[in-house]
This record gives sequence, C-alpha cells and structure tokens, in this order.
Amino acid sequence: MNPYSTQLIEEDDKKAVLHALSSPHLTQGALIEEFETKLSEYLGIKYILVFNSATSALYATYKAIGLDANHHALTSPISFVATANMILECGSLPIFCDIKRDGNINENLIESLITPQTKAIVSVDYAGNSVEAQSIQSICKKYNLAFVSDSSHAFGGEYHQQKIGTLADATIFSLHAIKPITTAEGGILATNNSAIYEQAKLIRSHGVIKKKLWNTDVITSGFNFRMTDLQAALGISQLKKIQRFLNIREEIAQFYDKAFISNPYFFTLHQNLLHKTTNHLYPIILAPEFWCSKEELFKNLQQEGLGVQVHYKPIYEFSLYRQILGEIELPNARDFYRAEISIPCHQKMNLNTAKETVDKILRVFEKLKICKE
Ligand SMILES: *Cc1c(COP(=O)(O)O)cnc(C)c1O
Repeated sequence: MNPYSTQLIEEDDKKAVLHALSSPHLTQGALIEEFETKLSEYLGIKYILVFNSATSALYATYKAIGLDANHHALTSPISFVATANMILECGSLPIFCDIKRDGNINENLIESLITPQTKAIVSVDYAGNSVEAQSIQSICKKYNLAFVSDSSHAFGGEYHQQKIGTLADATIFSLHAIKPITTAEGGILATNNSAIYEQAKLIRSHGVIKKKLWNTDVITSGFNFRMTDLQAALGISQLKKIQRFLNIREEIAQFYDKAFISNPYFFTLHQNLLHKTTNHLYPIILAPEFWCSKEELFKNLQQEGLGVQVHYKPIYEFSLYRQILGEIELPNARDFYRAEISIPCHQKMNLNTAKETVDKILRVFEKLKICKE
C-alpha cells in the first residue's frame, strides 16, 4: 500500500535516537530544551513547548486561555476529532462554523455565530493550507476572543510570507508519525504570549514549580504531557529536513495538478490554493455525479494499492456530538465530506511513483460505471 501520508526515517535519524538512548536523561533532559530552542528559531516564535501529542497541547492551550463551562469555542467541523474533543474536555462546547471550498473555516460566517459566551476561535489549517488568518485576527480583536490555530497539518506552511505559528495567539502542531515531520507521537505549542506559555507549561507537568533545594509547590492541577528526550532527538534530526520534505511534497502536488488538469471526474484542491501549503494531504474533490460511487471508487483505489483516506467526516455527525449538540447540518461541510478523497503525497514518493499513482487513479475512474442517485 502506498499510504496517503507517511514518515521518512533515515540513517541519521536512527543514529540520533540511539545516541540519546545513552544519555543520562531519557526524559526531562537537555534535548527537550535544544529541540524547543531550534523550533523557536525556525518558527520565529518566542515561546515553544513540546508535548507528547498535539491533542495534549490542544488541551493545555484551551485550559491556558481559560476555556471552561461558561464558554463556547467556534471551530471547524472538518478536522480530526481531537480539535473538538479537547474543547469538550474543558467542559466547554464547540460551535461549528461551515467551511469554504478549500476545507478551511469560512471567516465570513464567523461573526454571525459569536455570542457573549464565545471565548475563542479555533481554526484548522486543512491539509496544511493556512486559514485567512488576518480576517480571524481582526474578528478576535473586535470581540476580545482568543485565536487558537490547530495547525497540526501545517508545520512549515506560510501565510503571505509569514510562517504559520506567528499568526494566532497560540498555534498547535502535531508531530505524529504521518505529519510533516515526526517524533512518532508529539505536539508543539507555539506562542508569543507569556501567560499562555506559563500556564500550559504547568499543565504539561503536574502543576509543579521548583523552589529551594528539594522544595516544590503545586499551584494548579496538571498532567504528565511531556515528550521524551528520545523523541526530541528524533525531532531535532527531522527538523533539519523539513524544507526537503516540503519540496518533495510540493513537487508531487504540482505534478498531480498538471496530470489531473482536465479530467472529467474531480478537481484538485491544491491547484487553487492561495498560500504555501505543506501538502500534508493532497485532496481530490469528486464532481457531484460521482459522490454516490465513492464507496466503490474507494475500494477500487485500495485494490490498486493506494492507501487513500477521507478527511474528514464532519465532527457534528459523530454520535457523541449529536447527543450533545443535537442534529446539525452545514451544507459545505456535508458536501466536502461527500466529495473528498486524500491520495498519496509524501516524502517517500518521487515523480515515478507519482506517475504510477496518476495512471492507477485515472484507470479506476475510467472503469467506473456512474451510479444513479
Ligand atoms: C493529527 C491531528 C491532531 C492530533 O494530533 P496528535 O499529535 O495525534 O495528538 C489534531 N488535530 C488535527 C487537525 C490533526 O490532524
């Protein structure tokens, strides 16, 4: 199977982890600080905290901005469920805002959903392509809301020559195995806000502060959300390769755009993107007459050895969210889910494997009998 996304681990990555295994501290050691410093330099952001996952980084961030049972957070239904689950874990409610054709939250709909209970806007850079950060920034300013960016897909992406990470009050990246760079599991919180940083840091490690000698104090409740030094070693090694990985993904995405340009079956999201994406996903968007054939298409693509996936089922459709929020339907999110398939695009591929993938996909579509609604 050629997966829709995967990691690339090379000899120097393995050496770095092996070396870390011999260091005196397997966790809470110097490599965590080194990784955080390098991330801070790369992103041009003052405060960085690494976590054991983006999910725990999201939770710590929501807590740090004071999200609780008195509040709502406006967010996108087209995301991995962790974005909304962590809002629920704070006792708060996610309010879903419909999306645009690029899969990102529609900034023009946000204001109409704001109430006195709204505390934050949590956007998602779908597939690695930035949201319209400037519009969201000004809405947040006008209504005094926190702007949290779930940029789990978007490490290395840009918005008008600005790195993603510098645009929101707090930005979260995932270092899960199949995200742009990896520490197997891991997450990053990037912020220029010292209060968010200090609070999230406490939550990351039991709410403990060190005092003199053996003495400590606990000033908030917290967790063990820490990354290990083995993971930090891998992260430092992977960070050196981010530009190469992004270049390969972009080369494949551009090859796909050209190869698929005038096909009658689907259009590609990438060809119309405004910002420098990471291509964490390469989504194809089926023409409506193929929506009812999607299951058959999906099966046939898998039979061709293509590890395709659908991103995402709208979060409000999950049973849990139906119980909490009732029945919701947002037309663009609904149609996006009906139309989208993510095809292989990652740093282990090259133009030959991309060409093979194009041939297989077009073959599957040519054989397809169009079903009737
Ligand atoms: C992957 C992902 C997460 C969760 O990341 P983990 O590091 O696996 O916890 C959250 N949000 C989005 C949009 C993701 O794609």
